Amino acid sequence: MTIKYGGRNTQLKDETWEILLASANNDFISVLILWYSGVIPKSTYGWMLPHTLEKYLKSYLLKNNVPKKEIKDLRHSLADIWQRYKNISNTSTSKPKLNEAFDQIIQDLSTMDNANFRYSGCVDYSSDQLLYFYIVLSSFIRYLLIGKIKYRLTLYGLNENDFFPMNYEPMSTSYGKIIVHKMLHLALEHATGFTNLGFVNSMDLNEYSISNTAKFEKLDECPICNGTNNLDQSILVKFYRDINPINSLGQKIIL
Ligand SMILES: [Zn+2]
Repeated sequence: MTIKYGGRNTQLKDETWEILLASANNDFISVLILWYSGVIPKSTYGWMLPHTLEKYLKSYLLKNNVPKKEIKDLRHSLADIWQRYKNISNTSTSKPKLNEAFDQIIQDLSTMDNANFRYSGCVDYSSDQLLYFYIVLSSFIRYLLIGKIKYRLTLYGLNENDFFPMNYEPMSTSYGKIIVHKMLHLALEHATGFTNLGFVNSMDLNEYSISNTAKFEKLDECPICNGTNNLDQSILVKFYRDINPINSLGQKIIL
């Protein structure tokens, strides 16, 4: 029967590393926006966290000439895919505690499998650190896949096309892009994360952040970039939550 209102009617194309990367980027953006919206990962979307990493890692394996048959045999075991990635990659970060955290998040996310999620969410516990390490690890693999130049010329490796469904003229004022930009700026430039309750938690910048995934970007309206004195939670939360920030001259700030 022909699909009329939506669905899938194409045969799975030969997967390339680029197709997997685009699909991972799509999931990555979806997770960020749902998290920002306050949808807790106990919902079915929690499954997208391990699934995003599976796609980024499989894209990396494909790009590095691991045979497709071998990748297929890894099935959906995030732990096995991670181990295979570590076997062929000598690009662990220079931060031992961050490397340990990556191992831990793979272990944690491996407990969230597809079968459990389809009918009932099964995240017993999630923290802002979960989101933080998810962002850093996803961005690190994305950086390895596309290289420093493309990573820094784009939104931390994400392209305009990745935001197409949230299109708005001009694209820079698209709510989706503003949200993702702020979340990535705070995590990857300042090692800061937000809980859905509106609290700010900062990771240890020296131990848990890496220069690869930063762009060393300064945002005019970011209170941390501005070195605002007596920075309190409410100022940061306002910056985080304000999708259309206004500068001191009353002008709308375009990110
Ligand atoms: Zn900043």
